[in-house]
Amino acid sequence: MLSTAHHADVVIIGAGIAGLSAAHLLTSAGVSVSVLEAGPRVGGRMMTDEVDGFRLDHLGPLLNTSYPELYATPGLDGLVLRNFDPGVLVHSEGRRYRTGEIRSPRGARGARGALKAARALASAPRAPLSGSLTGAMGGAIDHARLGVALARLAATPRARVLARPERAALDALSGRGLSARTLNGFVRPLLTALLSDPALGTSSRCADLALRGYASGRLCVPSGGSATLPDLLAAALPPGTVRTGVHVTSADITAVRTKEHGEIGCRSLLLATGAGAAAELLPGLRVPPFHPVTVLHHTAPAPPPTGASLLLDADRSGPVAHTAVMSEVDPSRAPHGRVLISSTVLGTPPADLDRTVRTHLAALYGTPTDDWELLAAHHDPEAVPAMAPPHDPQRPVRLLAGLYVCGDHRDTGSVQGALSSGRRAAGAILTDLGVQPASGGTAALPEAA
Ligand SMILES: Cc1cc2nc3c(=O)[nH]c(=O)nc-3n(C[C@H](O)[C@H](O)[C@H](O)COP(=O)(O)OP(=O)(O)OC[C@H]3O[C@@H](n4cnc5c(N)ncnc54)[C@H](O)[C@@H]3O)c2cc1C
Repeated sequence: MLSTAHHADVVIIGAGIAGLSAAHLLTSAGVSVSVLEAGPRVGGRMMTDEVDGFRLDHLGPLLNTSYPELYATPGLDGLVLRNFDPGVLVHSEGRRYRTGEIRSPRGARGARGALKAARALASAPRAPLSGSLTGAMGGAIDHARLGVALARLAATPRARVLARPERAALDALSGRGLSARTLNGFVRPLLTALLSDPALGTSSRCADLALRGYASGRLCVPSGGSATLPDLLAAALPPGTVRTGVHVTSADITAVRTKEHGEIGCRSLLLATGAGAAAELLPGLRVPPFHPVTVLHHTAPAPPPTGASLLLDADRSGPVAHTAVMSEVDPSRAPHGRVLISSTVLGTPPADLDRTVRTHLAALYGTPTDDWELLAAHHDPEAVPAMAPPHDPQRPVRLLAGLYVCGDHRDTGSVQGALSSGRRAAGAILTDLGVQPASGGTAALPEAA
């Protein structure tokens, strides 16, 4: 099938990861595709700037090695993931402690084995940070119970998690058989970070999926910055497939009109923008509320003493929800010998952002931050679509034959969700066009997180 500057079988609006992954699956099946992107670069929300040799993400995405789409999406074969240290560091009442280490991914040893492992873990000597096991997380029994709960969740099929009663995550937490100390000292700050939702109004099913993903793998980031992911996807497409700097102003099934290049005809249209832009082009599409997120990058003369750990604030004593010495997690993000600390603020940011955040970081890391230098701060008021109950994690991507929509707002508000929605949309388009997918193409993944 042929594509010209003014016609393609499928026009995709938006070169975020959802649109790019759909484009890959469609072109692999022999369908001509034109991806029109309003911005100067591909990637959408997954953007990385190079500043004085630092690679600074606009967002601070916490990926997980258990996200199936990271391995199943064609074009991502070259993706290198940098893992955080196992578990997380939690700061509470002036101390830091490590918790949530998973010894038995996918619950291979069953609940009994996990209980044994968790007890062993709880009683094992460990390098002191500035706290101990009997801090806000409680003692050995609390750790053992947590280990069992995580191992059970990792072993629970996705369909069973999605069949559970659905409430707001915060309301559901108390029914999980965990102590208040475990909930407040680990589960709540972790879910806040994973869902970008400080109030935990997210659907309890989505929260359980997020915890299940955590329990099944390791927290990680793409090496070189989050833009690596869309850059890899775009590089694997036939040359000329993606056109940047092309703003679509209106669209229907047979054509789109652009600010810069007039009309482009198509047989099928795929809207792969964020939810707000999709509803502007197609009035009537649902626009969810969003979680605003602000990401700050600092450099410091010396790295704080937390290694490659994700550090969470259980006390919510300041604006930072989570932070990490990113140059320890992914050394390629900072020039040799330089330090990069990336921190995430959820909700409306405070007025005196840098000063307030540095004061909070001084408490979290236990080190003065007066000589830390702000490299960049990015605020996105529509960073992550909220997933309040009832939330359908597989909203229809086919509106009618010839008209499709994908993006994280059709699935779960995450990188995994955006990629999965692109796969589903490409599958629906190929079915309607009567075209066979390339092998390994658009088939649903059995255990999508
Ligand atoms: C600050 C922040 C933190 C996040 N943290 C995490 C996290 O920890 N873990 C996680 O998994 N996910 C996280 N996310 C979410 C994740 O980044 C998104 O789910 C994912 O990138 C969405 O991809 P997408 O392709 O659906 O949409 P987008 O990336 O928004 O892509 C849509 C594209 O459409 C283009 N477009 C819009 N309108 C038009 C038009 N009219 N014409 C042409 N082009 C148009 C846009 O320019 C954009 O490039 C975070 C996001 C942000 C912003």
